[in-house]
Amino acid sequence: MRLRPPFTRRSFLRGAASLGGGLLLGCGRGGCARSAPLERRTAGVVVVGAGLSGLVAARELRKAGVGSVVVVEARNRVGGLTISQEVSQGVMVDGGGAWVSPKHTRILALAEELGVGTVDAAESKGNPVFLFDGVRVAGTGRLFSRAEARELRQLRDKLEGMAAELPVGAPWDAPRAAEYDEVSMAHWLADNSSTVWGRRDIDLAIDFTFGCQPYDISLLRFVAAVKSVGGLERLMAISDSQDVSFSGGSQMLSVKMAEALGDQVLLASPVTRIVDDPAGPVRVETERLSIECGHVIVAMMPADARRIEFEPELPELKAGLISNWTGSPDYKAHIVYKTPFWRNNRLNGTAVGDGVVVDFIFDSTPAAGTPGVLVAFGAGEELPATVDDRKEVVTQSLVSFFGEEALDAINFVEMDWLTEEWSTGCASPLAPGVLSKYGPALRQPVGRIHWGGSETSAEFDGFMEGAVRAGERVASEVAAILRESGAIPAPAKSG
Ligand SMILES: Cc1cc2nc3c(=O)[nH]c(=O)nc-3n(C[C@H](O)[C@H](O)[C@H](O)COP(=O)(O)OP(=O)(O)OC[C@H]3O[C@@H](n4cnc5c(N)ncnc54)[C@H](O)[C@@H]3O)c2cc1C
Repeated sequence: MRLRPPFTRRSFLRGAASLGGGLLLGCGRGGCARSAPLERRTAGVVVVGAGLSGLVAARELRKAGVGSVVVVEARNRVGGLTISQEVSQGVMVDGGGAWVSPKHTRILALAEELGVGTVDAAESKGNPVFLFDGVRVAGTGRLFSRAEARELRQLRDKLEGMAAELPVGAPWDAPRAAEYDEVSMAHWLADNSSTVWGRRDIDLAIDFTFGCQPYDISLLRFVAAVKSVGGLERLMAISDSQDVSFSGGSQMLSVKMAEALGDQVLLASPVTRIVDDPAGPVRVETERLSIECGHVIVAMMPADARRIEFEPELPELKAGLISNWTGSPDYKAHIVYKTPFWRNNRLNGTAVGDGVVVDFIFDSTPAAGTPGVLVAFGAGEELPATVDDRKEVVTQSLVSFFGEEALDAINFVEMDWLTEEWSTGCASPLAPGVLSKYGPALRQPVGRIHWGGSETSAEFDGFMEGAVRAGERVASEVAAILRESGAIPAPAKSG
Protein backbone atom coordinates (compact mmCIF):
# COMPACT_ATOMS: atom_id res chain seq x y z
CA MET A 1 0.00 0.00 0.00
CA ARG A 2 1.20 3.51 -0.69
CA LEU A 3 2.74 5.38 2.16
CA ARG A 4 1.83 8.99 2.49
CA PRO A 5 2.45 11.72 4.99
CA PRO A 6 -0.17 11.45 7.75
CA PHE A 7 -1.77 14.80 6.93
CA THR A 8 -1.72 15.74 3.31
CA ARG A 9 -3.73 18.26 1.38
CA ARG A 10 -5.50 15.37 -0.35
CA SER A 11 -6.40 13.71 2.93
CA PHE A 12 -7.83 16.96 4.26
CA LEU A 13 -11.41 15.85 4.73
CA ARG A 14 -13.83 18.55 5.61
CA GLY A 15 -15.81 16.93 8.33
CA ALA A 16 -17.51 17.55 11.58
CA ALA A 17 -14.60 19.59 12.89
CA SER A 18 -14.63 22.15 10.10
CA LEU A 19 -15.90 25.64 10.78
CA GLY A 20 -19.50 26.15 9.77
CA GLY A 21 -20.16 28.94 7.31
CA GLY A 22 -22.51 30.42 9.86
CA LEU A 23 -19.45 31.63 11.71
CA LEU A 24 -17.93 32.95 8.51
CA LEU A 25 -21.10 34.86 7.79
CA GLY A 26 -21.33 36.33 11.25
CA CYS A 27 -24.35 34.17 12.11
CA GLY A 28 -24.90 32.48 15.42
CA ARG A 29 -27.62 30.65 17.32
CA GLY A 30 -29.64 33.80 17.65
CA GLY A 31 -29.57 34.49 13.91
CA CYS A 32 -27.41 36.74 11.77
CA ALA A 33 -26.36 40.23 12.67
CA ARG A 34 -28.04 42.58 10.20
CA SER A 35 -28.03 46.31 9.86
CA ALA A 36 -31.06 46.79 7.58
CA PRO A 37 -34.52 45.16 7.57
CA LEU A 38 -34.85 42.26 5.15
CA GLU A 39 -36.49 42.83 1.78
CA ARG A 40 -39.51 40.50 1.57
CA ARG A 41 -40.61 38.30 -1.31
CA THR A 42 -42.95 35.36 -1.79
CA ALA A 43 -42.70 32.18 -3.86
CA GLY A 44 -44.49 28.85 -4.18
CA VAL A 45 -41.26 26.90 -3.69
CA VAL A 46 -37.72 28.07 -2.94
CA VAL A 47 -34.77 25.95 -4.06
CA VAL A 48 -31.50 26.56 -2.21
CA GLY A 49 -28.49 25.85 -4.45
CA ALA A 50 -28.18 26.36 -8.21
CA GLY A 51 -26.11 23.26 -8.91
CA LEU A 52 -27.44 20.64 -11.30
CA SER A 53 -29.72 19.14 -8.67
CA GLY A 54 -31.38 22.38 -7.58
CA LEU A 55 -31.87 23.63 -11.13
CA VAL A 56 -33.35 20.30 -12.27
CA ALA A 57 -35.73 20.43 -9.28
CA ALA A 58 -36.80 23.98 -10.18
CA ARG A 59 -37.24 23.09 -13.84
CA GLU A 60 -39.35 20.02 -13.00
CA LEU A 61 -41.54 22.01 -10.60
CA ARG A 62 -42.17 24.61 -13.27
CA LYS A 63 -43.11 21.81 -15.68
CA ALA A 64 -45.48 20.41 -13.03
CA GLY A 65 -47.31 23.74 -12.94
CA VAL A 66 -45.81 25.49 -9.91
CA GLY A 67 -46.12 29.15 -10.87
CA SER A 68 -43.38 30.64 -8.78
CA VAL A 69 -40.11 28.83 -8.09
CA VAL A 70 -37.17 30.89 -6.85
CA VAL A 71 -33.64 29.45 -6.84
CA VAL A 72 -31.25 31.04 -4.34
CA GLU A 73 -27.52 30.52 -4.93
CA ALA A 74 -24.56 31.52 -2.75
CA ARG A 75 -22.03 31.89 -5.56
CA ASN A 76 -22.13 34.48 -8.31
CA ARG A 77 -22.47 31.68 -10.87
CA VAL A 78 -24.61 28.58 -11.38
CA GLY A 79 -23.36 24.99 -11.73
CA GLY A 80 -21.95 24.27 -8.25
CA LEU A 81 -19.43 21.44 -8.64
CA THR A 82 -19.45 21.85 -12.41
CA ILE A 83 -17.45 24.69 -13.92
CA SER A 84 -16.27 25.26 -17.49
CA GLN A 85 -12.79 26.69 -18.05
CA GLU A 86 -11.22 27.88 -21.30
CA VAL A 87 -7.74 26.40 -21.84
CA SER A 88 -7.15 27.66 -25.35
CA GLN A 89 -9.23 29.76 -27.72
CA GLY A 90 -12.66 28.09 -27.87
CA VAL A 91 -11.44 24.93 -26.09
CA MET A 92 -13.42 24.40 -22.91
CA VAL A 93 -12.61 21.88 -20.18
CA ASP A 94 -14.30 20.88 -16.94
CA GLY A 95 -12.76 22.03 -13.66
CA GLY A 96 -15.30 19.87 -11.80
CA GLY A 97 -17.75 17.15 -12.88
CA ALA A 98 -16.90 16.11 -16.43
CA TRP A 99 -17.59 12.62 -17.72
CA VAL A 100 -20.73 10.53 -17.96
CA SER A 101 -21.26 6.97 -19.10
CA PRO A 102 -24.13 5.58 -21.21
CA LYS A 103 -25.70 4.34 -17.94
CA HIS A 104 -26.19 7.98 -16.92
CA THR A 105 -29.47 8.10 -18.74
CA ARG A 106 -31.17 11.03 -16.98
CA ILE A 107 -28.38 13.54 -17.51
CA LEU A 108 -28.00 12.47 -21.14
CA ALA A 109 -31.75 12.97 -21.65
CA LEU A 110 -31.52 16.39 -19.98
CA ALA A 111 -28.63 17.40 -22.24
CA GLU A 112 -30.65 16.42 -25.28
CA GLU A 113 -33.66 18.44 -24.10
CA LEU A 114 -31.43 21.46 -23.50
CA GLY A 115 -29.62 21.10 -26.81
CA VAL A 116 -26.22 20.53 -25.18
CA GLY A 117 -24.15 18.15 -27.30
CA THR A 118 -21.82 15.42 -26.08
CA VAL A 119 -18.16 14.91 -26.90
CA ASP A 120 -16.51 11.48 -26.93
CA ALA A 121 -13.59 10.96 -24.55
CA ALA A 122 -10.16 11.31 -26.16
CA GLU A 123 -9.04 8.33 -28.23
CA SER A 124 -7.34 5.78 -26.02
CA LYS A 125 -4.89 4.08 -28.38
CA GLY A 126 -1.57 3.28 -26.75
CA ASN A 127 -0.53 2.29 -23.27
CA PRO A 128 -1.20 3.77 -19.86
CA VAL A 129 1.84 4.54 -17.68
CA PHE A 130 2.24 3.39 -14.09
CA LEU A 131 4.78 4.68 -11.60
CA PHE A 132 4.87 2.82 -8.32
CA ASP A 133 7.72 2.55 -5.81
CA GLY A 134 9.86 4.53 -8.25
CA VAL A 135 9.42 2.02 -11.10
CA ARG A 136 7.85 3.27 -14.33
CA VAL A 137 5.93 0.73 -16.42
CA ALA A 138 4.08 1.39 -19.70
CA GLY A 139 1.16 -1.02 -20.17
CA THR A 140 -0.48 -3.35 -17.67
CA GLY A 141 1.46 -6.49 -18.76
CA ARG A 142 4.09 -6.62 -16.01
CA LEU A 143 2.14 -4.80 -13.36
CA PHE A 144 1.20 -7.61 -11.02
CA SER A 145 2.02 -11.27 -10.44
CA ARG A 146 -0.40 -14.17 -10.92
CA ALA A 147 -0.84 -14.46 -7.16
CA GLU A 148 -1.71 -10.77 -6.99
CA ALA A 149 -4.14 -11.07 -9.90
CA ARG A 150 -5.81 -14.00 -8.12
CA GLU A 151 -6.12 -12.10 -4.86
CA LEU A 152 -7.42 -9.10 -6.72
CA ARG A 153 -10.23 -11.20 -8.19
CA GLN A 154 -11.03 -12.63 -4.76
CA LEU A 155 -11.20 -9.19 -3.17
CA ARG A 156 -13.42 -7.91 -5.94
CA ASP A 157 -15.73 -10.94 -5.59
CA LYS A 158 -16.06 -10.38 -1.85
CA LEU A 159 -16.86 -6.69 -2.27
CA GLU A 160 -19.33 -7.40 -5.09
CA GLY A 161 -20.97 -10.03 -2.89
CA MET A 162 -21.45 -7.52 -0.07
CA ALA A 163 -22.77 -4.90 -2.50
CA ALA A 164 -25.33 -7.42 -3.77
CA GLU A 165 -26.74 -7.70 -0.22
CA LEU A 166 -27.57 -3.99 -0.05
CA PRO A 167 -31.01 -2.66 -0.99
CA VAL A 168 -30.74 -0.03 -3.76
CA GLY A 169 -30.56 3.44 -2.22
CA ALA A 170 -30.87 2.21 1.37
CA PRO A 171 -27.62 0.45 2.38
CA TRP A 172 -28.43 1.13 6.04
CA ASP A 173 -31.37 -1.31 5.79
CA ALA A 174 -29.12 -4.28 4.91
CA PRO A 175 -29.10 -7.00 7.60
CA ARG A 176 -25.31 -6.64 8.05
CA ALA A 177 -25.17 -2.85 7.61
CA ALA A 178 -23.97 -2.14 11.15
CA GLU A 179 -21.27 -4.82 10.87
CA TYR A 180 -19.98 -3.43 7.55
CA ASP A 181 -20.07 0.10 8.91
CA GLU A 182 -17.97 -0.74 11.95
CA VAL A 183 -14.71 -1.05 10.02
CA SER A 184 -12.73 1.18 7.70
CA MET A 185 -11.57 -0.02 4.29
CA ALA A 186 -7.99 0.04 5.63
CA HIS A 187 -9.03 -2.37 8.37
CA TRP A 188 -10.91 -4.62 5.94
CA LEU A 189 -8.02 -4.68 3.46
CA ALA A 190 -5.55 -5.51 6.22
CA ASP A 191 -7.72 -8.50 7.19
CA ASN A 192 -8.44 -9.70 3.67
CA SER A 193 -5.37 -9.01 1.60
CA SER A 194 -1.76 -10.10 1.74
CA THR A 195 -0.33 -8.89 -1.59
CA VAL A 196 0.81 -5.41 -2.61
CA TRP A 197 -1.38 -5.14 -5.71
CA GLY A 198 -4.42 -6.72 -4.10
CA ARG A 199 -4.59 -3.80 -1.70
CA ARG A 200 -3.26 -1.21 -4.09
CA ASP A 201 -5.98 -1.81 -6.66
CA ILE A 202 -8.75 -1.11 -4.14
CA ASP A 203 -6.70 1.67 -2.58
CA LEU A 204 -6.52 3.35 -6.00
CA ALA A 205 -10.27 3.02 -6.51
CA ILE A 206 -10.81 4.68 -3.12
CA ASP A 207 -8.33 7.43 -3.93
CA PHE A 208 -9.77 8.15 -7.37
CA THR A 209 -13.44 7.94 -6.43
CA PHE A 210 -13.37 9.44 -2.95
CA GLY A 211 -10.08 11.38 -2.83
CA CYS A 212 -9.25 9.88 0.55
CA GLN A 213 -7.20 7.25 2.33
CA PRO A 214 -8.66 3.78 3.06
CA TYR A 215 -8.85 4.57 6.78
CA ASP A 216 -11.14 7.55 6.05
CA ILE A 217 -13.96 5.47 4.59
CA SER A 218 -16.08 2.68 6.03
CA LEU A 219 -16.57 -0.67 4.33
CA LEU A 220 -20.33 0.01 4.16
CA ARG A 221 -19.79 3.37 2.41
CA PHE A 222 -17.48 1.75 -0.13
CA VAL A 223 -19.76 -1.16 -1.00
CA ALA A 224 -22.75 1.22 -1.07
CA ALA A 225 -20.90 3.18 -3.78
CA VAL A 226 -20.27 -0.07 -5.65
CA LYS A 227 -24.00 -0.80 -5.46
CA SER A 228 -24.94 2.74 -6.44
CA VAL A 229 -22.99 2.69 -9.73
CA GLY A 230 -23.97 -0.90 -10.53
CA GLY A 231 -20.75 -2.80 -9.84
CA LEU A 232 -17.13 -2.58 -8.76
CA GLU A 233 -15.86 -2.75 -12.33
CA ARG A 234 -17.70 0.44 -13.08
CA LEU A 235 -16.33 2.17 -10.00
CA MET A 236 -12.78 1.11 -10.80
CA ALA A 237 -12.75 1.04 -14.60
CA ILE A 238 -12.07 4.69 -15.11
CA SER A 239 -12.60 4.51 -18.87
CA ASP A 240 -16.14 3.18 -18.50
CA SER A 241 -17.28 6.19 -16.51
CA GLN A 242 -15.58 8.58 -18.88
CA ASP A 243 -17.36 7.86 -22.11
CA VAL A 244 -18.57 11.35 -22.95
CA SER A 245 -18.41 14.89 -21.69
CA PHE A 246 -20.58 17.86 -22.68
CA SER A 247 -19.69 20.39 -25.34
CA GLY A 248 -18.90 23.70 -23.74
CA GLY A 249 -18.44 21.85 -20.43
CA SER A 250 -21.03 20.32 -18.12
CA GLN A 251 -21.71 23.71 -16.52
CA MET A 252 -23.59 24.49 -19.78
CA LEU A 253 -26.46 22.31 -18.52
CA SER A 254 -26.91 24.55 -15.50
CA VAL A 255 -26.38 27.73 -17.51
CA LYS A 256 -29.16 26.73 -19.93
CA MET A 257 -31.56 25.73 -17.15
CA ALA A 258 -30.89 29.00 -15.32
CA GLU A 259 -31.44 31.00 -18.52
CA ALA A 260 -34.89 29.44 -18.85
CA LEU A 261 -35.72 30.32 -15.24
CA GLY A 262 -34.59 33.91 -15.86
CA ASP A 263 -34.70 36.35 -12.96
CA GLN A 264 -36.04 33.64 -10.66
CA VAL A 265 -32.42 32.58 -10.07
CA LEU A 266 -30.82 34.82 -7.44
CA LEU A 267 -27.01 34.71 -7.45
CA ALA A 268 -24.55 35.82 -4.76
CA SER A 269 -27.23 35.17 -2.13
CA PRO A 270 -26.06 32.70 0.52
CA VAL A 271 -28.99 31.35 2.50
CA THR A 272 -28.28 31.84 6.18
CA ARG A 273 -31.49 30.67 7.85
CA ILE A 274 -34.58 28.59 7.12
CA VAL A 275 -37.54 29.00 9.47
CA ASP A 276 -40.30 26.39 9.21
CA ASP A 277 -42.87 27.67 11.69
CA PRO A 278 -46.08 25.63 11.24
CA ALA A 279 -48.11 28.74 12.08
CA GLY A 280 -47.03 30.53 8.91
CA PRO A 281 -45.20 30.15 5.61
CA VAL A 282 -41.64 28.82 5.45
CA ARG A 283 -39.09 31.67 5.54
CA VAL A 284 -35.84 31.38 3.60
CA GLU A 285 -33.43 34.13 4.58
CA THR A 286 -30.30 35.58 3.10
CA GLU A 287 -28.45 38.59 4.49
CA ARG A 288 -30.77 40.97 2.64
CA LEU A 289 -33.84 38.95 1.67
CA SER A 290 -36.61 36.96 3.33
CA ILE A 291 -38.62 34.78 0.96
CA GLU A 292 -41.90 33.35 2.22
CA CYS A 293 -42.87 30.10 0.52
CA GLY A 294 -44.89 26.90 0.82
CA HIS A 295 -41.94 24.50 0.61
CA VAL A 296 -38.16 24.71 0.43
CA ILE A 297 -35.73 22.33 -1.25
CA VAL A 298 -32.15 22.27 0.03
CA ALA A 299 -30.12 20.96 -2.94
CA MET A 300 -26.51 20.43 -1.89
CA MET A 301 -24.17 17.93 -0.22
CA PRO A 302 -25.41 17.37 3.37
CA ALA A 303 -22.16 18.86 4.74
CA ASP A 304 -22.84 22.11 2.84
CA ALA A 305 -26.05 22.58 4.84
CA ARG A 306 -23.92 23.18 7.96
CA ARG A 307 -23.79 26.79 6.85
CA ILE A 308 -27.55 27.18 7.22
CA GLU A 309 -29.30 27.71 10.52
CA PHE A 310 -32.59 25.83 10.84
CA GLU A 311 -35.42 26.97 13.05
CA PRO A 312 -36.81 24.99 14.81
CA GLU A 313 -33.71 22.82 15.17
CA LEU A 314 -33.59 19.81 12.86
CA PRO A 315 -34.40 16.38 14.34
CA GLU A 316 -31.38 14.68 15.91
CA LEU A 317 -30.84 12.22 13.06
CA LYS A 318 -30.89 14.90 10.35
CA ALA A 319 -28.69 17.26 12.36
CA GLY A 320 -26.29 14.34 12.98
CA LEU A 321 -26.20 13.51 9.26
CA ILE A 322 -25.29 17.09 8.39
CA SER A 323 -22.66 17.49 11.09
CA ASN A 324 -21.01 14.09 10.53
CA TRP A 325 -20.94 14.16 6.72
CA THR A 326 -17.44 14.47 5.27
CA GLY A 327 -16.50 15.94 1.90
CA SER A 328 -13.09 15.60 0.27
CA PRO A 329 -12.02 18.61 -1.78
CA ASP A 330 -10.09 17.74 -4.93
CA TYR A 331 -7.49 19.47 -7.07
CA LYS A 332 -7.77 19.30 -10.85
CA ALA A 333 -5.40 20.89 -13.34
CA HIS A 334 -5.40 20.99 -17.15
CA ILE A 335 -1.98 21.21 -18.75
CA VAL A 336 -1.97 22.28 -22.38
CA TYR A 337 0.62 21.41 -25.07
CA LYS A 338 0.86 22.31 -28.75
CA THR A 339 0.18 18.67 -29.61
CA PRO A 340 -0.58 15.47 -27.65
CA PHE A 341 3.11 14.46 -27.77
CA TRP A 342 2.55 11.33 -25.65
CA ARG A 343 0.60 9.73 -28.49
CA ASN A 344 3.78 9.73 -30.62
CA ASN A 345 5.34 7.58 -27.90
CA ARG A 346 2.44 5.09 -28.04
CA LEU A 347 1.02 6.32 -24.75
CA ASN A 348 -2.68 7.02 -24.30
CA GLY A 349 -2.20 9.80 -21.75
CA THR A 350 -3.49 7.79 -18.79
CA ALA A 351 -1.01 7.72 -15.92
CA VAL A 352 -1.37 6.49 -12.36
CA GLY A 353 1.28 6.43 -9.68
CA ASP A 354 2.48 7.14 -6.18
CA GLY A 355 5.06 9.49 -4.73
CA VAL A 356 3.98 12.22 -7.17
CA VAL A 357 1.90 15.34 -6.63
CA VAL A 358 -0.68 14.47 -9.28
CA ASP A 359 -1.38 10.75 -9.27
CA PHE A 360 -4.21 10.33 -11.81
CA ILE A 361 -3.75 11.79 -15.29
CA PHE A 362 -5.83 11.42 -18.44
CA ASP A 363 -5.79 12.63 -22.02
CA SER A 364 -8.34 15.42 -22.43
CA THR A 365 -7.33 16.48 -25.93
CA PRO A 366 -10.27 17.77 -27.99
CA ALA A 367 -11.53 15.68 -30.93
CA ALA A 368 -9.77 18.05 -33.37
CA GLY A 369 -6.47 16.58 -32.11
CA THR A 370 -4.91 19.86 -30.94
CA PRO A 371 -3.99 21.34 -28.57
CA GLY A 372 -2.80 18.38 -26.50
CA VAL A 373 -4.47 18.52 -23.09
CA LEU A 374 -3.70 16.42 -20.02
CA VAL A 375 -5.99 16.55 -17.01
CA ALA A 376 -4.34 15.80 -13.68
CA PHE A 377 -5.86 15.13 -10.27
CA GLY A 378 -3.98 16.12 -7.16
CA ALA A 379 -2.69 13.79 -4.47
CA GLY A 380 -0.01 13.23 -1.91
CA GLU A 381 2.13 15.99 -0.52
CA GLU A 382 0.64 19.31 0.29
CA LEU A 383 0.53 21.49 -2.81
CA PRO A 384 2.49 24.75 -2.70
CA ALA A 385 0.76 28.05 -2.03
CA THR A 386 1.43 29.90 -5.29
CA VAL A 387 0.17 28.99 -8.74
CA ASP A 388 3.72 29.19 -10.17
CA ASP A 389 4.98 26.69 -7.60
CA ARG A 390 1.99 24.42 -8.16
CA LYS A 391 2.58 24.54 -11.91
CA GLU A 392 6.21 23.60 -11.29
CA VAL A 393 5.45 20.56 -9.09
CA VAL A 394 2.58 19.36 -11.28
CA THR A 395 4.80 19.60 -14.38
CA GLN A 396 7.55 17.65 -12.61
CA SER A 397 5.02 14.88 -11.93
CA LEU A 398 4.13 14.81 -15.62
CA VAL A 399 7.82 14.55 -16.52
CA SER A 400 8.05 11.44 -14.30
CA PHE A 401 5.30 9.82 -16.36
CA PHE A 402 5.77 11.21 -19.87
CA GLY A 403 9.38 12.44 -20.06
CA GLU A 404 11.01 15.82 -20.69
CA GLU A 405 8.51 16.89 -23.37
CA ALA A 406 6.05 17.46 -20.53
CA LEU A 407 8.08 20.58 -19.66
CA ASP A 408 6.86 22.38 -22.80
CA ALA A 409 3.37 23.29 -21.60
CA ILE A 410 1.76 26.33 -23.23
CA ASN A 411 -0.98 26.78 -20.65
CA PHE A 412 -1.87 25.66 -17.14
CA VAL A 413 -5.43 26.00 -15.81
CA GLU A 414 -6.32 24.73 -12.36
CA MET A 415 -9.36 24.35 -10.14
CA ASP A 416 -8.68 24.01 -6.45
CA TRP A 417 -11.88 22.92 -4.69
CA LEU A 418 -10.18 23.18 -1.31
CA THR A 419 -10.36 26.96 -1.55
CA GLU A 420 -14.03 27.07 -2.62
CA GLU A 421 -16.08 28.52 0.21
CA TRP A 422 -19.43 27.09 -0.90
CA SER A 423 -18.40 23.48 -1.56
CA THR A 424 -17.30 21.29 1.34
CA GLY A 425 -16.00 18.65 -1.01
CA CYS A 426 -16.18 16.90 -4.36
CA ALA A 427 -16.86 13.39 -3.04
CA SER A 428 -18.24 11.96 0.19
CA PRO A 429 -16.14 9.34 1.95
CA LEU A 430 -17.92 8.61 5.21
CA ALA A 431 -16.15 7.40 8.33
CA PRO A 432 -17.20 4.17 10.07
CA GLY A 433 -20.53 4.52 11.87
CA VAL A 434 -21.95 7.43 9.86
CA LEU A 435 -23.94 5.82 7.03
CA SER A 436 -25.66 3.10 9.06
CA LYS A 437 -26.70 5.54 11.78
CA TYR A 438 -27.61 8.70 9.88
CA GLY A 439 -28.32 7.40 6.35
CA PRO A 440 -32.09 7.01 6.93
CA ALA A 441 -32.31 10.81 7.30
CA LEU A 442 -30.81 11.53 3.85
CA ARG A 443 -34.03 11.97 1.87
CA GLN A 444 -36.60 12.18 4.68
CA PRO A 445 -38.37 15.59 4.53
CA VAL A 446 -38.42 17.62 7.74
CA GLY A 447 -41.74 19.45 7.84
CA ARG A 448 -41.79 21.52 4.66
CA ILE A 449 -38.03 21.23 4.14
CA HIS A 450 -37.08 18.76 1.38
CA TRP A 451 -33.63 17.49 0.47
CA GLY A 452 -31.98 17.31 -2.95
CA GLY A 453 -28.32 17.13 -3.98
CA SER A 454 -26.55 14.24 -5.68
CA GLU A 455 -25.81 12.47 -2.39
CA THR A 456 -29.54 11.87 -1.82
CA SER A 457 -29.88 9.88 -5.03
CA ALA A 458 -30.54 6.15 -4.73
CA GLU A 459 -28.26 5.51 -7.70
CA PHE A 460 -25.11 7.26 -8.95
CA ASP A 461 -24.90 9.37 -5.80
CA GLY A 462 -21.92 11.71 -5.92
CA PHE A 463 -22.11 11.89 -9.71
CA MET A 464 -23.81 14.42 -11.98
CA GLU A 465 -26.30 11.67 -12.87
CA GLY A 466 -27.17 11.41 -9.18
CA ALA A 467 -27.67 15.18 -9.02
CA VAL A 468 -30.17 15.06 -11.89
CA ARG A 469 -32.02 12.06 -10.44
CA ALA A 470 -32.15 13.68 -7.00
CA GLY A 471 -33.54 16.89 -8.53
CA GLU A 472 -36.25 14.92 -10.32
CA ARG A 473 -37.08 12.88 -7.21
CA VAL A 474 -37.36 15.83 -4.83
CA ALA A 475 -39.40 17.85 -7.35
CA SER A 476 -41.90 15.02 -7.72
CA GLU A 477 -42.07 14.70 -3.90
CA VAL A 478 -43.01 18.38 -3.57
CA ALA A 479 -45.31 18.35 -6.62
CA ALA A 480 -47.25 15.40 -5.17
CA ILE A 481 -47.91 17.36 -1.96
CA LEU A 482 -48.97 20.44 -3.90
CA ARG A 483 -51.28 18.34 -6.07
CA GLU A 484 -52.80 16.70 -3.04
CA SER A 485 -53.58 20.12 -1.58
CA GLY A 486 -55.00 21.34 -4.90
CA ALA A 487 -52.29 23.99 -5.27
CA ILE A 488 -51.35 22.62 -8.69
CA PRO A 489 -53.48 20.62 -11.12
CA ALA A 490 -53.15 16.86 -11.58
CA PRO A 491 -51.12 15.96 -14.68
CA ALA A 492 -53.24 15.64 -17.82
CA LYS A 493 -54.03 12.01 -18.69
CA SER A 494 -52.51 10.94 -21.97
CA GLY A 495 -54.54 9.13 -24.63
C1 LIG B 1 -13.13 17.75 -9.40
C2 LIG B 1 -14.45 17.06 -9.57
C3 LIG B 1 -14.56 16.06 -10.52
C4 LIG B 1 -15.79 15.41 -10.70
N1 LIG B 1 -15.90 14.50 -11.72
C5 LIG B 1 -17.11 13.99 -12.02
C6 LIG B 1 -17.29 13.25 -13.22
O1 LIG B 1 -16.36 13.08 -14.02
N2 LIG B 1 -18.53 12.73 -13.47
C7 LIG B 1 -19.60 12.95 -12.64
O2 LIG B 1 -20.71 12.48 -12.94
N3 LIG B 1 -19.45 13.69 -11.51
C8 LIG B 1 -18.25 14.23 -11.19
N4 LIG B 1 -18.11 15.05 -10.10
C9 LIG B 1 -19.26 15.19 -9.16
C10 LIG B 1 -20.37 16.10 -9.71
O3 LIG B 1 -19.82 17.28 -10.23
C11 LIG B 1 -21.34 16.42 -8.57
O4 LIG B 1 -21.81 15.22 -7.99
C12 LIG B 1 -22.57 17.21 -9.01
O5 LIG B 1 -22.22 18.29 -9.85
C13 LIG B 1 -23.29 17.72 -7.75
O6 LIG B 1 -24.39 18.53 -8.09
P1 LIG B 1 -25.37 19.05 -6.96
O7 LIG B 1 -26.32 19.97 -7.59
O8 LIG B 1 -25.89 17.89 -6.20
O9 LIG B 1 -24.44 19.83 -5.91
P2 LIG B 1 -23.55 21.13 -6.13
O10 LIG B 1 -23.04 21.19 -7.50
O11 LIG B 1 -22.58 21.14 -5.02
O12 LIG B 1 -24.59 22.33 -5.94
C14 LIG B 1 -24.91 22.86 -4.68
C15 LIG B 1 -25.06 24.36 -4.83
O13 LIG B 1 -25.49 24.90 -3.58
C16 LIG B 1 -24.83 26.14 -3.39
N5 LIG B 1 -24.85 26.47 -1.97
C17 LIG B 1 -24.13 25.92 -0.96
N6 LIG B 1 -24.46 26.50 0.20
C18 LIG B 1 -25.41 27.44 -0.07
C19 LIG B 1 -26.13 28.37 0.73
N7 LIG B 1 -25.97 28.47 2.04
N8 LIG B 1 -27.02 29.19 0.11
C20 LIG B 1 -27.23 29.12 -1.23
N9 LIG B 1 -26.56 28.25 -2.03
C21 LIG B 1 -25.66 27.43 -1.45
C22 LIG B 1 -23.44 25.90 -3.95
O14 LIG B 1 -22.79 27.11 -4.27
C23 LIG B 1 -23.76 25.07 -5.19
O15 LIG B 1 -23.96 25.88 -6.32
C24 LIG B 1 -16.91 15.74 -9.89
C25 LIG B 1 -16.80 16.75 -8.96
C26 LIG B 1 -15.59 17.43 -8.81
C27 LIG B 1 -15.53 18.59 -7.88
